[in-house]
Amino acid sequence: MYNAVMTYTTLFFDLDATLYPASSGLWFKIKDRIHEFMMDHLGLTEQEASSLREDYYLQYGTTLDGLMRHHHVDPEGYLKFVHDIPLEKFISYSPALKEILTSLPQALWVFTNSDREHAKRVLNILNLEHVFQGIVDVHALDFEAKPHPRAYRKALALARIQTPSKCVLFDDLSQNLLPANELGFYTVIVNENNLDDHPADIHIHSLLDLPHKLPMLWKGED
Ligand SMILES: [Mg+2]
Repeated sequence: MYNAVMTYTTLFFDLDATLYPASSGLWFKIKDRIHEFMMDHLGLTEQEASSLREDYYLQYGTTLDGLMRHHHVDPEGYLKFVHDIPLEKFISYSPALKEILTSLPQALWVFTNSDREHAKRVLNILNLEHVFQGIVDVHALDFEAKPHPRAYRKALALARIQTPSKCVLFDDLSQNLLPANELGFYTVIVNENNLDDHPADIHIHSLLDLPHKLPMLWKGED
């Protein structure tokens, strides 16, 4: 039986390119849709859209944040457009991943800069819809997404956590892990590439590596 005094009680998982591999191509497809949206609404060339997306993404954490601040873009229309993708062409159910996630003794949460609709569609295809206690999405974050420090505090509050050091964050992006690290989370960068430099406590290539890379998650403290 799992000991009552757990080192980690709550695990937060980013959604895109974390719960499914970046090599699935889905995240690249979402970026294409973002460019299309910006070309249509802002009258930009693809090159201009791509460079502005990169600027907003680095400056504000999400492209949407920049588009709302500077171009009064309607978030609902944007979110609908960029996620209007046949997801099943890119991602599929992994029984091994489901087995690993359902065997974890902690409470599992999705913590995404995306919206709940998209998250639910992804979880449905991955057959993980009943694995998580809840979804912290861009609406729950009042559009102040990762890596805004307030996003992490909101996620903690929604999961009713008072001690960040009892939490783990899994994310494919260094910039999203840095504030979590500073707040005291244990941080795991999930990225298929070999990384020379990252701010996380540990790098894994896939969540499928969890049992042998982070066996501590299945062990309590005596
Ligand atoms: Mg991601």
